Amino acid sequence: MNTDLQDYTHMRFNILTGECVLVSPHRAKRPWQGQNEEISKEVRPSHDKTCYLCAGNPRVSGDINPKYKDVFVFTNDFGSLQKDSKSFKIEEGLILAQSETGVCKVICFSPDHSKSLADMEVINIEKVVEAWQNEYKSLGEIDTINYVQIFENKGAVMGCSNPHPHGQIWSQSTLPNEVYKKDRHQYAYFNSNSTSLLGNYLAQELKQNERIVFENDSFVVLVPFWGIWPFETMIVPKKHQKSILEMNEIEVSLYAEAISVVTKAYDKLFSCSFPYSSGIHQAPTNGENNDHWHWHMSFYPPLLRSATVKKFMVGYEMFGSPQRDITPEIAAQKLRELI
Ligand SMILES: [Zn+2]
Repeated sequence: MNTDLQDYTHMRFNILTGECVLVSPHRAKRPWQGQNEEISKEVRPSHDKTCYLCAGNPRVSGDINPKYKDVFVFTNDFGSLQKDSKSFKIEEGLILAQSETGVCKVICFSPDHSKSLADMEVINIEKVVEAWQNEYKSLGEIDTINYVQIFENKGAVMGCSNPHPHGQIWSQSTLPNEVYKKDRHQYAYFNSNSTSLLGNYLAQELKQNERIVFENDSFVVLVPFWGIWPFETMIVPKKHQKSILEMNEIEVSLYAEAISVVTKAYDKLFSCSFPYSSGIHQAPTNGENNDHWHWHMSFYPPLLRSATVKKFMVGYEMFGSPQRDITPEIAAQKLRELI
């Protein structure tokens, strides 16, 4: 390991987005206050009469949820994107805008209100992955949908208003900012090297073995070299695959295992139901070949050093660059020890 990276302030480069993160490892050596604080553990019922995501309950739209047994997907009654909204474009000097259409869906991971992905059996997480595959395929086949964003906000601290285990799928005609950046950087690399940027990065990570958290036959969980969040992780398929549709049955199962391992480790880290935003970045559904894409899933958890101490992206991070104290190498080691 290069010890300079553990001792001195430096900038790390994100090869996927072209952005930098400021790493200040000397600050992580400050004495910590309030480490390992216990928070009250909320015990939830497996069915909540007032929850609009529980099986058999009514939603605000008046629709009644079916008595689903594993995964349930529905179109968001109040989606941010709408399929049939007015089409327009504004180009008035430097005032630029254009209409955007799409479909927003909600996916309930389990009928059990009390569970999270970390509590679910791998076989049930497989059903969630299969539902993601179906949605990516069917939404992507719509002419006007060029990108399908699958994500989850877990925990009140991430702005998630309902504790029922669920995620979202927003699909739209324009590439969102983060996807656009990753698209451009992967394309440039693939164009000059004819190999996957993330695939080559993964080979280097496996060789160095400093930021690997978990590995099975098809997937690697690692703390990316350029991670911003203290315990950020990424699940990357070892094979160069453009999207989750390229996984076979065994790979679906191994991917579900990787999700289970990382979410369980998170819950153990500060003895709490660990909040995060997670999402899958994969090939756009714009009809192009997109061979430069190597899909991956990222977890962005906000907790810093206990269940009650959260990292804030403020000040310098809003006006300059993201900054972190604990290094990705130390974070990977802490997570590895929990598996
Ligand atoms: Zn519920």
